[in-house]
Amino acid sequence: MLNIVLFGPPGAGKGTQSERIIEKYHLTHISTGDLFRKNIKEGTELGLRAKSFMDAGNLVPDEVVVGMVDDFLEHHRDAEGFIFDGYPRTTPQAEALDRQLENMGHPIAAMLSLAVPDEELKARLANRGKTSGRPDDQDPEKINNRISVYYRETQPVMDYYKAQGKYVEIHGLGDIEEIFSSISDAIDQLS
Ligand code: AMP
Repeated sequence: MLNIVLFGPPGAGKGTQSERIIEKYHLTHISTGDLFRKNIKEGTELGLRAKSFMDAGNLVPDEVVVGMVDDFLEHHRDAEGFIFDGYPRTTPQAEALDRQLENMGHPIAAMLSLAVPDEELKARLANRGKTSGRPDDQDPEKINNRISVYYRETQPVMDYYKAQGKYVEIHGLGDIEEIFSSISDAIDQLS
């Protein structure tokens, strides 16, 4: 079993690269953002709890996210491994994930961190907003807030994995296939 965290600021390309990773390595994709959007669309109670935080570009409270991931892992016991996309986003979430995986006996093998400069992130998110239909991609103020939230609350998660010797930085600018090739090299070195 191979468990990987794909990390990076909003707009770094986590979703795009996840698609390629799951195809090549047969991992199960868990994107907490996608799960929240699905719940909002279906009008569940969880979606209702998450919506106002997401619309403002703020983080959904840890206990809500951790509970949702617990549930997902419980329903995917046969997975060959997971690619965590957009989770963990706070240090308490990273600690929770370690506990969640301890039960399965397969800790996180690496955090692959996509490094992309802010100006590029803002341009990508504004561009994605034209087609994604995501309320949090539409408004420059919300985009700026998501990037500040990333630096304030999410970036410390890097130190958590650095301390475990699991941090790998991936250059996230340029051709999608070249970035994927750097990711593949990093994953191949794990096994
Ligand atoms: P994403 O699709 O990963 O960009 O996530 C969209 C939004 O969902 C974020 O701006 C947060 O409001 C919420 N969200 C997704 N994942 C998490 C998480 N791990 N912790 C807290 N909030 C999250």
